[in-house]
Amino acid sequence: MTEINLELRKELVKEIPELLKCFQCGTCVSSCLAEKYSGSYSPRRKILMACYGQKDIIAKELWRCVTCNSCNERCPQEVNPYDVLIKLKNYALKHGLVEDEALQATEKLVRKTGRAMPVNERTQRMRQELGLEELKPIDDLDKLFEEKKEEKEVKQK
Ligand code: SF4
Ligand code: SF4
Repeated sequence: MTEINLELRKELVKEIPELLKCFQCGTCVSSCLAEKYSGSYSPRRKILMACYGQKDIIAKELWRCVTCNSCNERCPQEVNPYDVLIKLKNYALKHGLVEDEALQATEKLVRKTGRAMPVNERTQRMRQELGLEELKPIDDLDKLFEEKKEEKEVKQK
C-alpha cells in the first residue's frame, strides 16, 4: 500500500492547488505522447503521486513529458496537467530531487540550442504547415549563461 507523506502533500497542494481538482479519470493519459512512446508515463499518476506526497516518484521521469499540451486540452476538470508537471519540475529542481542524468541532458541541450526540447525536421515541417515561423538557433548562448551566472552571484551577495 502507498504511504501518504502528509507534510509533503500539504506543501505541494499549497504550491499547486489544482492538484486537488483531479478526479483521476485518466482522460489526459489517453492522448499523452510520452505514454504512447515510453509506455509507462502517466500525467494522471504523477498527479496522484504528488497528492500522496511521494517525492521520489514525483521527480522520477518527469522529463519524459514532451510538452505536447494535449492533456491540458482534454482534461475535463481544468487541472491543466501539463502546467502541473511544469510546477512539479520546478519544485523538484528547487529541492534537489531531479535525477542527475535528466538534469545533465537538459542542461546540455539548453547550452547547445537554448531550448529544453530538441527541435527536429519534423517539428519545423509541422510549424511550417501551421504557418508558424521556423525556429532558428539562438546566438550568444555562452554570453547569456555568463550574464545569468553573474546576476545570480550578485543576488547571493
Ligand atoms: S488531470 Fe484531468 S484528465 Fe487527467 S486524470 Fe486528472 S481530471 Fe482526469
Ligand atoms: S504535455 Fe506531457 S503529459 Fe501532457 S499529454 Fe503531452 S506528453 Fe503527456
